Amino acid sequence: MALIQVRDLVKEFEGQKVLSNINLDLHEGEVKVLMGASGSGKSTLLRCLNRLVEPTSGSILFRGKEVLGPNVDVRELRQQIGFVFQQFALYSHLSVLDNVTLGLRKLKGMSEASAKEKALHELSHFDMAPHQDKYPAQLSGGQKQRVAISRALAMDPAVLVMDEPTSALDPVMSRDVADLINRLHGEGITMICVTHDLNLASNIAEKVMFLDKGVIRADDRIDVLSQHADPVIQKFFGEGQV
Ligand code: ADP
Ligand code: MG
Repeated sequence: MALIQVRDLVKEFEGQKVLSNINLDLHEGEVKVLMGASGSGKSTLLRCLNRLVEPTSGSILFRGKEVLGPNVDVRELRQQIGFVFQQFALYSHLSVLDNVTLGLRKLKGMSEASAKEKALHELSHFDMAPHQDKYPAQLSGGQKQRVAISRALAMDPAVLVMDEPTSALDPVMSRDVADLINRLHGEGITMICVTHDLNLASNIAEKVMFLDKGVIRADDRIDVLSQHADPVIQKFFGEGQV
């Protein structure tokens, strides 16, 4: 059974369909990459997975259980489905260490000492332990994203969801974070990732799901997509939007 099964997912904003009958399966250890033009619904789809956005209709099963029901523990769901955002979303008034320990203490109820131990373990995995006392403003973009990824992984999520994790970074830092995500893939972390980075996409996933105006238009290898006969897909790759 797939870890996440999305069935006939529809999302409307003010009567406008932003997602139309989306179906997808994400299996344990698998990585899915989503691409598509700006406004095609990529972020909305990711956000439906842990109910940052409430779908209009359809079904999302996580380990076989419906996550859209009224009695679902959304806090628990968000621990299982960890998010990494394009703009890092770190707390600017908290140190690197406190950014990572916050969820461990507040959501997992860990003691300060064990939260710190766990946080430092994650941060050192990404070479960020020496920066533990710094504040986000004192870090480079790449370092901020390393902290954000450490923070998400510290919660031991079943799935890591990333929305354009490298697009706010300059090319060098973007490469650095892409390498790190590639490493996570090698470690067997289940991920779903929106990215415009063709290199990253082809390193971490066999196939890319192409979303157009809320519809999955293709689910193919990058080399197939970039030569695709579909004019919409051709336009996307041809215009160098990626
Ligand atoms: P993408 O991530 O592919 O750029 P989004 O999922 O952010 O696309 O947006 C898809 C469409 O939904 C866009 O037309 C956007 O304007 C609209 N949209 C997204 N969030 C909201 C919202 N909270 N309220 C109204 N419309 C929204
Ligand atoms: Mg988006």
